[in-house]
Amino acid sequence: MSSSIAEALQRINETIPNHITLVAVSKTKPLELLKEAYRSGQRHYGENRVQEVIEKAPALPADIKWHFIGHLQSKKVKQVIQHTHLIHSIDSKKLLDEVNKRAEQVNKVQDVLLQMHIAQEDTKYGLDQQDLEKLVPYALKELKNVRVVGLMGMATFTDNLDQVRSEFKVLKNHFDMAKSNYFQDHSYFSEISMGMSGDYLIAMEEGSTMVRVGSSIFGARG
Ligand SMILES: *Cc1c(COP(=O)(O)O)cnc(C)c1O
Repeated sequence: MSSSIAEALQRINETIPNHITLVAVSKTKPLELLKEAYRSGQRHYGENRVQEVIEKAPALPADIKWHFIGHLQSKKVKQVIQHTHLIHSIDSKKLLDEVNKRAEQVNKVQDVLLQMHIAQEDTKYGLDQQDLEKLVPYALKELKNVRVVGLMGMATFTDNLDQVRSEFKVLKNHFDMAKSNYFQDHSYFSEISMGMSGDYLIAMEEGSTMVRVGSSIFGARG
């Protein structure tokens, strides 16, 4: 039992090139399992609930990089801002403004990804092309304490991998557009967060730089 996380990480890392970041999605999982992954060298962890971040982060080594990957309510930004290496899920101007404000208060420039709506399901959060074209110039001009380092997206929850692949291509196109229109002089705009346990290999083929893998590392969530 106790070697299974190490084995899973090794197996997954063998499929991931060095320039791609593996974010181990540890939501709902107890500290013991995160510690086990840590002992195997894993440093990037993804969580989707504020409460879990504020409980886990202080209890684990300080060199862990915490990724916030879930829907984030503006009123809770203040609680997580000291802990987050990267917020993947910026899906409104209101949230971006709040992150900027709270980052300024703690003297930080917060790296963020804009979450794009690429799935066919209308239940998923995310921005569209028009939102992107408004938000990026606004952030670059007005917000001194956030840095938009890339885009994130979640594909439709489906077994149809052709559909998943085409949704990843849409995200890559958004990224290429934003890069050439707004970030040509900003090499930090470089991240495409896409791919989960079931589809990260496809995501990497389509240009992902950051994969968010949970159940393949830690086992199914209850
Ligand atoms: C839970 C979650 C993941 C990981 O999903 P797995 O299928 O367990 O790999 C990735 N991204 C987000 C946004 C999630 O909420």
